[in-house]
Amino acid sequence: MSVEIITKSANETMALGQKIVNLARSGSVFCLTGDLGAGKTTLVKGMAQALGIKSIVQSPTFNIMKIYFDGLRPLIHIDAYRLENANIDIGLDEYIGYETGFTVIEWPEYILKLIPKSAITINITNLGEDNRKIVITGGDKTLLEGLNK
Ligand code: ADP
Ligand code: MG
Repeated sequence: MSVEIITKSANETMALGQKIVNLARSGSVFCLTGDLGAGKTTLVKGMAQALGIKSIVQSPTFNIMKIYFDGLRPLIHIDAYRLENANIDIGLDEYIGYETGFTVIEWPEYILKLIPKSAITINITNLGEDNRKIVITGGDKTLLEGLNK
């Protein structure tokens, strides 16, 4: 099952990120896919807002993983871009699916072995100007039906 949503501004994408966090169970793992500039980090910013995280959320490309602890629940943000063809046994599995928090993973294709079957995929396509198509696949009924409302 999947849900397709069109957003027409970065703010709308952030609002969607907030909605996703409010509907998903803690422990959820989200795989974010889409080209550079599609809006993956923008979506994560909205998720952080919903958790009351005050830190500035940026793509963690040079850190591989950032954990924001200053909100209602931990938000674990992984960017696996630099792990292409690298050793991925660096302990990320301890954090992916961290049960009291949410994990978001950019470039999941580089750490496929570490992605749980229950992961929810969010693909963002740039439709031109400020329009983005966001397709959410996986997740339970509460999430998908809630997003359809
Ligand atoms: P990514 O992490 O996928 O590389 P970013 O979220 O860093 O992408 O950047 C997306 C850029 O596109 C931002 O500058 C944002 O303001 C802009 N933008 C314009 N319209 C949208 C939209 N509907 N959703 C998300 N971002 C948008
Ligand atoms: Mg990014």
